[in-house]
Amino acid sequence: MRIVLVGPPGAGKGTQAQFIASHLSIPKISTGDIFRANVSGGTELGRKAKEFMDRGDLVPDEVTIAMVRDRLSEDDARDGFLLDGFPRNVPQAETLKKMLSEWDARLDIVLELVVDEEEVVRRLSGRRTCTKCGKIWHVDFDDKRDDICDDCGGNLFQRDDDKEDVVRHRLEVYQEQTAPLVQFYEDEGILAGIEATGSVEEVTGRALAALAPLESA
Ligand code: AMP
Repeated sequence: MRIVLVGPPGAGKGTQAQFIASHLSIPKISTGDIFRANVSGGTELGRKAKEFMDRGDLVPDEVTIAMVRDRLSEDDARDGFLLDGFPRNVPQAETLKKMLSEWDARLDIVLELVVDEEEVVRRLSGRRTCTKCGKIWHVDFDDKRDDICDDCGGNLFQRDDDKEDVVRHRLEVYQEQTAPLVQFYEDEGILAGIEATGSVEEVTGRALAALAPLESA
């Protein structure tokens, strides 16, 4: 199955992508994760992406599309994949459609995670990551009052793009550039909206219910 997840930053795409991809035994391909790995690894791609990411802007399409084309050409993505964070604008969606048709393939479904904007700001600006083990904590939801990881004792830090002003900018970018994808995929007849509030399990349940008719097809 070929799936795209869309939704504003902080909708829980990464978490849901993980569950859905492992349920379907398909690779989860997250452009944000690939960019972050390249930034930490100090690669040429990371160097190109970093300034855009730090500002909360989109990395230019030519850089992003080349990276996605390479990743989708790998063997494990041949029969299915879940894309998390791509496409992020209509030109990327059109390119993806063309790319897949070159391979005689097409998307099966686009899941839109729907969540309120203020909820997103609260989720993201309270997020802290452990420098040592990578675990993600939340100042409110985990009642985290110090900057120490309860699991491994490492120091917690806030991603530059999770600072409140950057989060608000990322949301503007989402509204301007990414939200039009909802209409694009509605017109293609493959959009399914999922209410992304409640527990992680509840949201996963809704997503899997939307996928069930395709799995049995
Ligand atoms: P994410 O983890 O999906 O929120 O992505 C983090 C950052 O990576 C974004 O704010 C963008 O700067 C960049 N990024 C991720 N995916 C894309 C994409 N499809 N197009 C352009 N930039 C992207």
